Amino acid sequence: MYRSHSCGELRASHITQEVTLSGWVQKSRDKGFMIWVDLRDRYGITQLIFDEERTPTTIFEKAKTLGREFVIQVTGEVIERASKNSNMPTGDIEILVTKLTVLNASLLPPFTIEDETDGGEDIRMKYRYLDIRRNPVKDSLIFRHKVTMEVRKYLSEQEFIEVETPYLIKSTPEGARDFVVPSRMNEGQFYALPQSPQTFKQLLMVGGMDKYFQIVKCFRDEDLRADRQPEFTQIDCEMAFVEQEDILNVFEGLTRHLLKEIKGIDIEKFPRMTFDHAMKTYGNDKPDIRFGMEFGELNDVAQHKEFNVFNSAELVVGIAVPGGASYTRKEIDKLIDWVRRPQVGALGMVYVKCNEDGSFKSSVDKFYDQDDLAKWAEKTGAKAGDLICVLSGNTNKVRAQLSALRMELAERLNLRNPSEFAPLWVMDFPLLELDEETGHYHAMHHPFTSPKPGQLELLDTNPGDVKANAYDLVLNGNEIGGGSIRIHDKEMQAIMFKHLGFTEDEAKAQFGFLMDAFQYGAPPHGGLAFGLDRLVAILGGQETIRDFIAFPKNNSGRDVMIDAPAPIDDEQLKELSIKLDIQA
Ligand code: ASP
Repeated sequence: MYRSHSCGELRASHITQEVTLSGWVQKSRDKGFMIWVDLRDRYGITQLIFDEERTPTTIFEKAKTLGREFVIQVTGEVIERASKNSNMPTGDIEILVTKLTVLNASLLPPFTIEDETDGGEDIRMKYRYLDIRRNPVKDSLIFRHKVTMEVRKYLSEQEFIEVETPYLIKSTPEGARDFVVPSRMNEGQFYALPQSPQTFKQLLMVGGMDKYFQIVKCFRDEDLRADRQPEFTQIDCEMAFVEQEDILNVFEGLTRHLLKEIKGIDIEKFPRMTFDHAMKTYGNDKPDIRFGMEFGELNDVAQHKEFNVFNSAELVVGIAVPGGASYTRKEIDKLIDWVRRPQVGALGMVYVKCNEDGSFKSSVDKFYDQDDLAKWAEKTGAKAGDLICVLSGNTNKVRAQLSALRMELAERLNLRNPSEFAPLWVMDFPLLELDEETGHYHAMHHPFTSPKPGQLELLDTNPGDVKANAYDLVLNGNEIGGGSIRIHDKEMQAIMFKHLGFTEDEAKAQFGFLMDAFQYGAPPHGGLAFGLDRLVAILGGQETIRDFIAFPKNNSGRDVMIDAPAPIDDEQLKELSIKLDIQA
């Protein structure tokens, strides 16, 4: 028996008991005649005491050799501590050690295994197994486990069945590049790793499994933005014989359950917002509604004056920054520099200070009088003491820029409170999205999403205006889930593929199996998928998903611990009939 108790378990009530503990040496304090060792395991820390007078000499001597992260086993008596530590659950007791076994020595760890470590991100990732011994990472993994257990519990109670789907498949387009795996047995042919189990879950619906879920890895070969992983986990769900309303209700229920069980927060009904409204009001399809600063469009009141920058703009739009009228000239200049950074891309910014006395002072006083500016204040909801920031230009670009500014200012003003939760549904997404570079339309969600009823005719004339039965669940400015009601009819799916630029043959080659299945009694169906990593991070009050993933990849998609990806040897390449042609 390695242990009778864990290192987090013993209390005053155990005093006089003989116990055996195993764990890692957190630290050791050698006072010459007395040695204290903090012994750590997943459950906590227990103090061990070795006393020259009371501990057998051989054991006392051995205790002197213990280094950080040695794995040891001790037996001894639980005794009352002379100086208690009320900050530690086990702080009332210590173990007077009578038996000590070193189970394994340890090299000195390359960073301290403390909550606040001296190790930077890179070194912690290289030695992730040591990092996992630290409370913040360990607790995040345990937290993730709790969330997934609650998901499984809730969905199972609603009669959902967890079904595994294959990883070695054929492309499932979710808008990213596929990771591919060469097939040795099928020379020159490749599997694609699933960007999601989308087509399989639809086939499960055809198979009659009318409530499916899976906590599943998905793989997308995308350029990695901060906090994105090439492999990530979804809570993937699909239901048959449902309308959009049914789906929203079930998964609002799941989210409500998680907020209640994990955070103790009751949220009655999630607000719903159309995509168009979200874009107009927040410049963003995943608005953070924990704070206001809603967009006020100013075309009516700012154009047709002498100010040509605005006159020639497609959209003039502003937000009111609470308390911003007190910003100094220098601070405002800095804000202007911020919106002009290439990452944001605005050409400039017009501002209006709403003075406490009700007057206005703007950077465009030459063109606008006090009455004009009062109208701007009204449209943006600015009050005395606020600063109105105004951007102008191409509608989509300007919305994105002002949205970036809104989020940045909210961050600076501490309006993005991580312990507050504001979920909402964003719905009625466009079916298609124009790729500005190629001039082609592609599916905004994925090619299996159904258009709203009665909008089919628009596909030929105004494809960009067609709305889809598609919805996203947004939490605190993050898309945590998204889905749609699917096409379940072969003809409709064929029309869709055609509009997405597939020839009949291409569609057949890539998705023939799905179109075939639709001929054998496909029920109406729909679903959605949550991004589990992000959901867990947000529930855990963190922005970064890495700490909630045991073995994450870095920003270049590398696992620096196992050093992957890596070359394979010539023999393997030969077996796969692959010749490399790497350009320098
Ligand atoms: N497969 C979709 C995705 O990964 C989710 C869905 O439509 O259910 O975004």
